[in-house]
Amino acid sequence: MPKNILIVGSGPAAVWAAIAAKKQDAAADVTVLSDEACEPYEKPPLSKAVLLDKAAPEDALIAGKDGLAAHGVALRPDTRCLSIDRAARAVVTSSGRLPYDALVIATGSLMRELPLLPPGMPRVHYLRTQAHARELKAGLAACKHLVVIGAGLIGLEVAASASELGIEVTVLEFAPRIMARACDEETGALILAEHQHHGVDINVSTSVTQVTPQLDGTIALETADGDLFVADHVVVGAGVKPDDALAAAAGLTVQDGIVVDEQCRTSNPNIFAAGDATRFPGPQGLVRLENWRHAQDHGAVAGRNAAGASDAYRTVPSFWSEQYDLYIQGVGWPQPNPDQRIRRKLDGKSTLLLETAGGVLSYALGINAQRDLAAVRRLIERKIPVDPAALADPAQPFAAMLKAKAS
Ligand SMILES: Cc1cc2nc3c(=O)[nH]c(=O)nc-3n(C[C@H](O)[C@H](O)[C@H](O)COP(=O)(O)OP(=O)(O)OC[C@H]3O[C@@H](n4cnc5c(N)ncnc54)[C@H](O)[C@@H]3O)c2cc1C
Repeated sequence: MPKNILIVGSGPAAVWAAIAAKKQDAAADVTVLSDEACEPYEKPPLSKAVLLDKAAPEDALIAGKDGLAAHGVALRPDTRCLSIDRAARAVVTSSGRLPYDALVIATGSLMRELPLLPPGMPRVHYLRTQAHARELKAGLAACKHLVVIGAGLIGLEVAASASELGIEVTVLEFAPRIMARACDEETGALILAEHQHHGVDINVSTSVTQVTPQLDGTIALETADGDLFVADHVVVGAGVKPDDALAAAAGLTVQDGIVVDEQCRTSNPNIFAAGDATRFPGPQGLVRLENWRHAQDHGAVAGRNAAGASDAYRTVPSFWSEQYDLYIQGVGWPQPNPDQRIRRKLDGKSTLLLETAGGVLSYALGINAQRDLAAVRRLIERKIPVDPAALADPAQPFAAMLKAKAS
């Protein structure tokens, strides 16, 4: 009997789990259960190219232009997994019960909702799906003033896209600085300056205390400081939380994320989990990551192991964000107290922050430094000892540091 592998979800973790499971065991029946009606698509373009009309949401299918079928994987669209019957090894879905030999949960993240600006309120947008992006794009077509709540990655990407469309944009951020979770102060200040250069009004250390829909359809937002902003549309980018309810209801171990071991196994040996929904062993205990590359790589390990392999997931995490002509990219594990923080001065708007711990690079954050960061990633992965003076010197190519070790 071929092994029956079910994958719940439709993001990169689910799709790469399915493709990897089929590669690992070509005879297995691999099925993706998605609560969306369409072929799984990439989310990163939704806040960038899609809003700027440079791409349609359906242009970027995760499994490639021919979809999951081209990989020998079955897709059940419009099929929400409602519960897991662990004893019977079956899932209950919106369209019936399905048995499994191995199950991968890749349910991703849910958006943090603001009670004053709930999803569904007219002219209030949250951005996670194709449908959200289409609705926001339609709203922006006649929008003069957009208010964005939250200066994290998605909020600032939407702010940049809207500003490039000629819309007046105000950003309201609760924290004392923008992108506080993703960036050090100096890199954050460079990104702030770019937004200000484009005329975006960024307000930090502030929060919305009152929301009043106006008769003309606009929304008045009052802040704790007594400032008043009237928006044609509002986008909420207040972060995400793991979608772990299905796993929790099935009695799997959950701690703000589905807890998995390094092989992506949950507390039940036949059930694996991957991506944004999980908490997995990092270098200093269990961690969560909310980025695309992690979801893809974690999913692939979960899929292979669901099909019989015993691979361990070890990652050098990375994220990226695109705002105007800035390509912001972080690689590695940021430490609370790195041994050294070194800034390498680069040309124009490019910049690179490098952190070391124990004589090796531990983390790097760059703006428009993709080539350098590709080499830095290999230095981090291979734990190659580095000389701080050479790290600070733009005349010393990172690729040479890799070669020096190899010879
Ligand atoms: C607008 C936007 C822009 C982004 N830009 C970047 C970027 O530039 N760089 C970066 O690194 N990351 C970016 N991200 C984050 C990245 O896309 C996520 O980290 C990644 O998608 C997580 O993948 P995942 O497979 O774990 O979960 P998700 O992509 O969240 O997919 C899970 C999906 O599973 C489906 N599902 C959930 N529950 C069920 C169920 N019970 N039954 C059936 N189906 C279910 C849902 O449709 C859900 O969408 C962005 C995210 C968004 C929303």
